[in-house]
Amino acid sequence: MSAAVQVSHLSKRFGDRSAVADVSFTVDRGEVFGFLGPNGAGKTTTVRILGTLIAPSSGTASVAGIPLEPANGPEIRRRIAIMPEAPGLYLRLSVAENLEYFAGLYGLKRPRDRIAAALAAVSLADRAGERCGALSKGLRQRVGLARALLNEPEVLFLDEPTSGLDPVAARDVHDLIDGLRRQGVTIFLTTHRLAEAERLCDRVAIMQTTLRTVGRTDELRDRVFSKALTVTTAAPLPDPERVFAGLPAVDGWRADGTAGYALAVSDLAVAAPAVTRALVAAEADVLSITPAQHSLEDIYLQLIDNNEPAGRS
Ligand code: ATP
Repeated sequence: MSAAVQVSHLSKRFGDRSAVADVSFTVDRGEVFGFLGPNGAGKTTTVRILGTLIAPSSGTASVAGIPLEPANGPEIRRRIAIMPEAPGLYLRLSVAENLEYFAGLYGLKRPRDRIAAALAAVSLADRAGERCGALSKGLRQRVGLARALLNEPEVLFLDEPTSGLDPVAARDVHDLIDGLRRQGVTIFLTTHRLAEAERLCDRVAIMQTTLRTVGRTDELRDRVFSKALTVTTAAPLPDPERVFAGLPAVDGWRADGTAGYALAVSDLAVAAPAVTRALVAAEADVLSITPAQHSLEDIYLQLIDNNEPAGRS
């Protein structure tokens, strides 16, 4: 089966400003794909290109298996949905009236069934009669998601879906995204919340005009940071060099505090048991042996050069 989204050497210039430069990646069907990057990194521009709202300057792409060409715009739009940061609802209309309006605009068959299904998917069936303007921001975001689900999209683009939401409302949106993933919807998630990406996404891309990296967070950790083990003992080892030197997969060690040691390792699965055995043989009182943990935030900050203004060619 074709990929949900395939992007090859995609670029977009606005005048002499390069917003997206030579970006290539693939999103598999059914995947939650995180798209991360600082302000002005070209994320929204990429989503707008893939959503057929603007044309790329160069490069090719396919969305929902269909080549991104002007003639294919209507067919692609039938198979995808984009939820922009602001859900774009008529605040004086009720939830149901908004969805009826958009279902009509999209020319959906069986609009009543689709509206009922979309409302049920976001658990808003009991609020259908309420005016959107009277809803909290979190509930409005859920109505926006219901709107995006009306055409049963194969690929759903969510641009900052939890921006400005409190933690409880954000968690509701996360649960909805998990539910959509279980139904097999491919989700392209643009977010600044790195913990959100780490929790929801199968893979993430880090973008700053060019694509900095793409992969699963554990792969990125391995790629971006050398692997390390942290050992803590109750008392300093009398001769740490004798304990750690020459162990399999241990490339080096340094003292880290008075009774702590940071070990550079090439393979954690080989090094950790060997280090444990060596410490026991040396009769050390071991308090902990832990792999050094790097968050997605560490990876992100490592890859995004804060001094480099985005959008420069
Ligand atoms: P944010 O996280 O702030 O939403 P972003 O990663 O989505 O940022 P884009 O909105 O894609 O970034 O913008 C990328 C660059 O392209 C920016 O420098 C922006 O000013 C520029 N840009 C975007 N749209 C246009 C446009 N229609 N005309 C001119 N420049 C534009």
